[in-house]
Amino acid sequence: MNFPNFENFEKFLESVDSDLKKIFDYQKEYIFCKKGCSLCCENGDYPLSELEFEYIKMAYNKLDETTRLQIDKNVEKIKSEKKELYCCPFLINKSCSIYNHRPFVCRTFGVLTEDAKGNPAYPSCAVNGLNFSQIYDKEKKHLSADLVAKGGFKIFPKIFRLNNKVIMNLPLAKELNIDFGEAKRLIDFF
Ligand code: SF4
Repeated sequence: MNFPNFENFEKFLESVDSDLKKIFDYQKEYIFCKKGCSLCCENGDYPLSELEFEYIKMAYNKLDETTRLQIDKNVEKIKSEKKELYCCPFLINKSCSIYNHRPFVCRTFGVLTEDAKGNPAYPSCAVNGLNFSQIYDKEKKHLSADLVAKGGFKIFPKIFRLNNKVIMNLPLAKELNIDFGEAKRLIDFF
C-alpha cells in the first residue's frame, strides 16, 4: 500500500456515509438500531483493509491511556483464544471507542445486504427480535416473503450490495485514487 492518503479517504467515507444514511432511512421500518446496542460488535470477524486499519490506528493513538490499555488487553485475549468469531477489541463498555474511524463493515451493520459470495445476508440480531425480526421466520431460519405480505409494510425489504469488495470498487474510490491495500480479519492486523 502507498503512503495512506487520509484526506481522500475521508472524502470517500463522507460519500459512503451519505449513501448509507439513505439506505438506512429507506428500510427504517425494519431497523431497530439504537445507541447502547452493541450486538453487532460482540461476535464477528470484522474484515477490513490495510487503509482502514491505519485509519483506526490514528484514532487509537488519540485515546486516553486507560482505554488504550484496555484495547491492548482485549487484543491479547482474542489472540490467545484463537476463535473464528470474537468480540471486537475496540468495544469498551458497550460503545465503540473509535466510532468515527470504524471500518466499512461496521458502517453497514444492521441492513439487509449480501455477503462476499453474493448470498443474501440479514443482520444477526433478526433472531434477537431486532432488525428485520418482523419478517424473519425462526423455524425456517430465513426472511419470509409471507411475513412481508402479511405485515402491511410500506416497502418491500431490499437487499443492498454492500460488501467490502463492492464498496472498495465504487467509481469514486478510483477517482480519488484510493489504495486500500491488503484485506484481512481485524485481529490478523495485530
Ligand atoms: S470497530 Fe467499533 S463499530 Fe466496529 S465492531 Fe468494533 S466496536 Fe463495533
